[in-house]
Amino acid sequence: DSVFAAIAQAPEDPILGVTVAYNKDPSPIKLNLGVGAYRTEEGKPLVLNVVRKAEQFLVNDQSRVKEYLPILGLAEFNKLSAKLILGDGCAAIEENRVATAQCLSGTGSLRVGAEFLAKHYHQHTIYIPLPSWGNHLKVFTMAGLSVKTYRYYDPTTRGLNFQGLLEDLGAAPAGAMVLLHACAHNPTGVDPTLEQWEQIRQLIRSKGLLPFFDSAYQGFASGSLDADAQPVRMFVADGGECLVAQSYAKNMGLYGERVGALSIVCKAADVASRVESQLKLVIRPMYSNPPIHGASIAATILKNSDMYDEWKIELKAMADRIISMRKQLFDALSARGFT
Ligand code: PMP
Repeated sequence: DSVFAAIAQAPEDPILGVTVAYNKDPSPIKLNLGVGAYRTEEGKPLVLNVVRKAEQFLVNDQSRVKEYLPILGLAEFNKLSAKLILGDGCAAIEENRVATAQCLSGTGSLRVGAEFLAKHYHQHTIYIPLPSWGNHLKVFTMAGLSVKTYRYYDPTTRGLNFQGLLEDLGAAPAGAMVLLHACAHNPTGVDPTLEQWEQIRQLIRSKGLLPFFDSAYQGFASGSLDADAQPVRMFVADGGECLVAQSYAKNMGLYGERVGALSIVCKAADVASRVESQLKLVIRPMYSNPPIHGASIAATILKNSDMYDEWKIELKAMADRIISMRKQLFDALSARGFT
């Protein structure tokens, strides 16, 4: 008999399981609404032109080797990623107060951040919005944090339960961590206004809570990289500390390349440097060092101004099309009497 004979069949992941069911379904008019991956008008995955260009550039560069990256990944990718989310001329970057690690897309960045917090932060409770991306609960729990929720979505208004959010974060114990979706809240699509973000910021800072931003959709909510990063930048501009997990899965269409970064913004350069040294100890036994290819694509695009401009145009086209598809779906449902 197998030594594993007693192992029970695990359920499919609720989101990825939809893809499994989708692939099995023979219907010619099927649509996969499970995993949030961009599709063209023809329902096909899209590789951005600028990504193809960057890959071509990398292939032609004969000096490139396949050596291991350092534990924290590609240094120039990390610098450019921090700049992308925190903004050009960000004081925290200029003052060397940001520790960044290249991680395995958004999920890996959240997990490394969570493991770091579980090991080094005095509070172990993290508040996530209700509802939230289904994996948040599992990522944080597996890392040893204790997860609580704060009210976020109000089904009656189909908008933000702002009062509930303020009450729940207001009642959180001092020092607790708060997971915030930087933009394009998943699964509701409801984001606070900038005025509401400002109130959230004041509350979080006055209570000494620690914000952890999940930025999986920078550029996808509005079509503008800067507009979508505004909430994160408000928190960094006040000089306080926070964590940011970035993913390039959606905005560069690099899903399977697993390209992302964790940045920990600190109050002082010496703290950031010690934090960085500890991030290495978290990562080394987990996967030793991150993969080179996807991060090289992203870094190539981010550092070349022509490619960067081309990326912004392609990104805006994806965002605009998503916004228009949603409007069309809404109008079609309304016309059929759904309210
Ligand atoms: N956070 C949120 C809110 C997401 O929706 C996703 C992807 N669905 C992720 C993080 C992580 O995605 P990835 O690991 O592919 O970057």
